[in-house]
Amino acid sequence: MINLKKSGLQVSLMALALSLSACNDQTTQATQTGQVKPLSQTLQEEDRQAAFYDQADSLWYLENERAKRLAEGEKKPESLIQTTPQFKREPGDYSFTEPPIPPLSKAGQLLNLPDPGTTPRFTVNGLQWPANVGDLSISMWAKDKIAAFSLTIDDNHVQDHAFWYDMSAQYGWKWTWFLIANQIGWSSADHWGHWQKAVDKGHDVQSHGQTHLCDALFNTFREYRQSQVEIERSLANVKVRALAYPFGINTDKRGSPCEPLTSDRTKNSRAEAAKYFLAVRDVYGALSNPAKIDYLKVPSVSSARNFLNPQAPWAYFDSVFNPTSANYRTWYVVHYHNIPNDTAKNEVRQVLAHLQEVEDKVWIAPFTQVAQYGQEYATAQLTSVQRTANSVSFQLKDQMNDTWFDQPLTLKMRLPDAWNGSLSVKQNSVSRAGRTVVNQGKTYALFEVVPDRGLVTVTY
Ligand SMILES: [Zn+2]
Repeated sequence: MINLKKSGLQVSLMALALSLSACNDQTTQATQTGQVKPLSQTLQEEDRQAAFYDQADSLWYLENERAKRLAEGEKKPESLIQTTPQFKREPGDYSFTEPPIPPLSKAGQLLNLPDPGTTPRFTVNGLQWPANVGDLSISMWAKDKIAAFSLTIDDNHVQDHAFWYDMSAQYGWKWTWFLIANQIGWSSADHWGHWQKAVDKGHDVQSHGQTHLCDALFNTFREYRQSQVEIERSLANVKVRALAYPFGINTDKRGSPCEPLTSDRTKNSRAEAAKYFLAVRDVYGALSNPAKIDYLKVPSVSSARNFLNPQAPWAYFDSVFNPTSANYRTWYVVHYHNIPNDTAKNEVRQVLAHLQEVEDKVWIAPFTQVAQYGQEYATAQLTSVQRTANSVSFQLKDQMNDTWFDQPLTLKMRLPDAWNGSLSVKQNSVSRAGRTVVNQGKTYALFEVVPDRGLVTVTY
């Protein structure tokens, strides 16, 4: 069933090294469109090495999984734990019944935003402080933070779960795992129960394709759609709305265990992904201006490389706080694979420790949530604002699909100088939590409202 490439990993990796020109092309293109600052030759080399590391790790994992499956005679181990007894897949059974297709993306109910190209969707300003009592502003990121950060993990590395859970417990943040759907359940070491536990702990579990674009039976449609359906059927309380492109959008499998599959039918496709996902993560490691993020090709820094390095401005984290940087206020995404040793663990710890130091300025949240927020914000509008002496009523609307986009946006409102301390926020009679912040002696209310869910009234 599986068309195995028998060549050794060493050979695969050497061939891969020769194929990395694809990464080069991408860097050059992005530079030409002005989306990132030009990188010097040395810095391009750094980025290429990071990309090489990630590819190598991904391929090592896939090769090993395949070897294990072969050794097991493609038979399901007795110890396999199925979390959903009604969903039984037998070895070699790849049948796929597609459920009703997702809604169509249409004006006013978009599933995702079109590529902005070089035209910013909005002006990137600093934090807003509405001038007059009752004036409102929509915060660019949740909790009125300066920037956003998401940590993602690819390729089903179940062996690292304990480490990531420890880190999550220490800092109180949640991660996003991108799963290769059909690799789950073929070994007692990787079963759906592991991933249900991640979901139950509040983490984000999304798709990294059905076979990582490595199975001759599949094509891009099935890689995206079948993985989405199988993850949702196999896990409780999961909506799969995000994807990480296997090998990145510029699919290049030369030298990989998937080498025979180089036809167009197994290439990543932005247009195909747009039918099923509200956002897709790429592996391109230079940040994007926040007003020009292509949500179907979100840049991501591999292993947070250069996170703390001011000499690498395309990926230096603190550039998100610098108003003169193209990265000012952007969404910083990182992706990890396996965490093989203490050195790698300590690198992660350094990144997280730095994030904790600046957490008052950074919204740290799973990939899917931030992608929802960013697209709602980019299309959000306040309408029908009506005021009385002590209240403001308004509608908050966006252009995104209401079923897929339910992330509350943070709003800020100026309160009177002689504010009496009472604050009530209601949307369709449902109370919503609010709090206040003080800036230059003035008091402002911060509260959260989901777009397109009816009239909001703030009384003070
Ligand atoms: Zn991968």
